[in-house]
Amino acid sequence: MKHERLVDILQSLSNVMSTSGDESEMRRALRPLLAGQVDELRVDSLGNLITLKKGTGESQLRVLVTAHIDEVGMMVVDHTPDGALKVQAVGGIDDRLLPGLNVCVGKEQLPGVIGIKAIHHSSSRERLKAIPLKELSVDIGAENRKEAQRLAPVGTRVTFSTQAHPLGELIAGKAFDDRAGCTALVALLHEEPFPFDLYGVFTVQEEVGLRGARVAGYAVAPAVAFVLEGTIADDLPKKEDVGPTSQIGQGPVLTVMDRSYISAPWLLRYTVQLAEKLGIPYQFKQPGIGGTDAGAIHLTRGGVPSLTLAVPCRYIHGPISLLKPADLEATITLTSAALRHLTAEQLANN
Ligand SMILES: [Zn+2]
Repeated sequence: MKHERLVDILQSLSNVMSTSGDESEMRRALRPLLAGQVDELRVDSLGNLITLKKGTGESQLRVLVTAHIDEVGMMVVDHTPDGALKVQAVGGIDDRLLPGLNVCVGKEQLPGVIGIKAIHHSSSRERLKAIPLKELSVDIGAENRKEAQRLAPVGTRVTFSTQAHPLGELIAGKAFDDRAGCTALVALLHEEPFPFDLYGVFTVQEEVGLRGARVAGYAVAPAVAFVLEGTIADDLPKKEDVGPTSQIGQGPVLTVMDRSYISAPWLLRYTVQLAEKLGIPYQFKQPGIGGTDAGAIHLTRGGVPSLTLAVPCRYIHGPISLLKPADLEATITLTSAALRHLTAEQLANN
């Protein structure tokens, strides 16, 4: 896929509001991007968008590639007498980033502001303290509880209202975890057919516990799975002498082990050897951090060899993340190569 088209898809998907458990807007945005590129498309009862791209028939393998369509955000859980919204986090968000932010409330995308006491009234002690989300509220300009309840009933989703845009050689936007992976999966589904039937699944509720992938993995029953992600690039200068988790511009980030799974060693070795052979940059994620849909998929049925390939993104789970399109392109190139060279014999011999 051409660079401009890829960046365009990334930016448009980044702007979609799709918090865990209510991913309808992402499904709606993906359908036109997949039209004519897949042979089957269905939505299961949790909301996973399951596509099948028929292969050339050379191989009988069933291969699954996933990317999750949910993002971290907030949900309205109560209303104050003066018309503000009380919210809870959906997925892991950092309370320190929230005060003063613009947010989008509900399907109508009502503008809101996360309210905070003016600096004039705050003691020097208060100014140094992170305010927990339960002490913050979202102001949508409602006059009273009744109006707030009408405009944003309990269960209404609240998301960061960032619009994606270029930032030097980088792209800035919200939810690159995992709109980067979604963009990569769309690009793969636009390619020529693979030797085998490829199930491209856009999963739901990853951020709240890999829930969509659990049922999608069971339904597809793949022989091998690749999980496409946007992962932490923690590559800015630090005081302590600790290595970065991953770095922007250094190519796809391969998981060896995280909190949710350990990659199948042969699949990791195979992918690394391919990257070396083809001159595609790659890096390893620092072990022991985070989890991905591979954590649920690899435990499906009799077990599924799985590998996560991720685009390094700065400031994920915050209102604005940054990525380098070259990393996204290298992730697509490496995943495509790994798919096209995969054979039943490799699986049998491991
Ligand atoms: Zn993710």
